[in-house]
Amino acid sequence: MIRILTRLLAGGTALIVPALAMATSAVAAMEPIRTDGMPIPMPKPDLALLYPAETVNMTLPVPRPDPQTILPRATRTVAEMYLQQTDTQTGEDKLYILKSGEGIGKLLRRAGYEATDVAAAVEAVSGRASLRSLPVGLDVRVTPDGFAFTTRNGRDIFAIDDPEEGWIAFSAIRPVERYLSYAQGVIDDSIYRAAAANDIPDDALAEYVRVMGFSVDFQREIRSGDAFELLYEQQIDQISGKKIATKLHYAGLMLSGSQLGFYRYDHEGSRVGWYDRDGNSAARTLIRTPISGARLSSSYGMRKHPISGYNRMHKGVDFAAATGTPIIAAGSGVVTQAGWYGSYGRYIRIRHNSTYDTAYAHMSRLARGISPGRRVEQGQVIGYVGSSGRSTGPHLHYEILVNNRKVNPMTVSLPTGEKIPAEMLADFNTKVELVEAEVLATGSVRFAAMELLPSERGVN
Ligand SMILES: [Zn+2]
Repeated sequence: MIRILTRLLAGGTALIVPALAMATSAVAAMEPIRTDGMPIPMPKPDLALLYPAETVNMTLPVPRPDPQTILPRATRTVAEMYLQQTDTQTGEDKLYILKSGEGIGKLLRRAGYEATDVAAAVEAVSGRASLRSLPVGLDVRVTPDGFAFTTRNGRDIFAIDDPEEGWIAFSAIRPVERYLSYAQGVIDDSIYRAAAANDIPDDALAEYVRVMGFSVDFQREIRSGDAFELLYEQQIDQISGKKIATKLHYAGLMLSGSQLGFYRYDHEGSRVGWYDRDGNSAARTLIRTPISGARLSSSYGMRKHPISGYNRMHKGVDFAAATGTPIIAAGSGVVTQAGWYGSYGRYIRIRHNSTYDTAYAHMSRLARGISPGRRVEQGQVIGYVGSSGRSTGPHLHYEILVNNRKVNPMTVSLPTGEKIPAEMLADFNTKVELVEAEVLATGSVRFAAMELLPSERGVN
């Protein structure tokens, strides 16, 4: 059973359905979800229903001056913008596609512009956009008195031949609406199945699994009855109607008895960190299961060797998986061995730091470029499952070494990544409180006042 509550983040029409009122009696974060009688069927956040067809009267809350208040809003057509700016009609938009080797000037000539107009228009636009880096295939909407295109950072550049001022160019903000959704549910067998059946966006789920994957092995540790919750945001371009981004804000999981909750924090630039409520990073230096969709076929410890028949120590874990299944680096580090290694077959060893190494054996092949001395990042594909060396079938033999001693990868305690920097703690705590308020009282409007998109500020 899953429920998803979606609402428009700011401005526009609230999308809370009446049924919501019954469902939101302050479900505590990570409290197991109970059914009182029939589960309440919640509407799915069908994108087609989520955004209003008309984009009028969209007022975003503006807690501080930002480009939203300075720049005009993009219109659907150049003709509309022309009318809005000059009170004069122009012809309808026609679509031209930038060809290879063609600049904006040549395209405008192709569209029938006079040379003098082309020169003045290009001059005006060059102050707004880097005309050299316009991609081949760019859509340019052209009218007799103006044109527009969308830049890579999602802004529209309009250029119009103003009857009084001549050619002017300016950026305009494409109207984007943000929808916040809260989903929680009990896992019957697989979180993927549970999420897929309920339209949780793939990118939100992928991020959820990535964040939780440091602490939890989704193939083995999840039991029936475990509960998950997500708070995510979807951004819809109101002109194209397309989803332009999904952002997971909170990931929670309740495993029999223990609770995990991680909060997103956007650092300067585009770096995203995930932390528990005390500011400890969700990331671990090593991933316990460097392969997805595999079955643990042999654990660490004494066992009868499948080939020799003797009892001996198995100093790693085996994951059975189809030949060719990608294997990822459990952590960032430097490759110290890559190639054939006796009974291990095709083998890779990575040194992560002065304490930890990991090793991967029986591969069918190594990923391109993997060789001793090469630096790899956590999550990077380093090779593919096979049955090379002394092996009875396709599987990954995986080892974690602590000070060169092989340990049990499933139980060894692994260091966490860094804590949130002290100077960001106050800001982070504010975010935690807002997320928790939202999770506790799904459907409240408190989140709306919060600026979730620092990357949008000051970007022009
Ligand atoms: Zn093994």
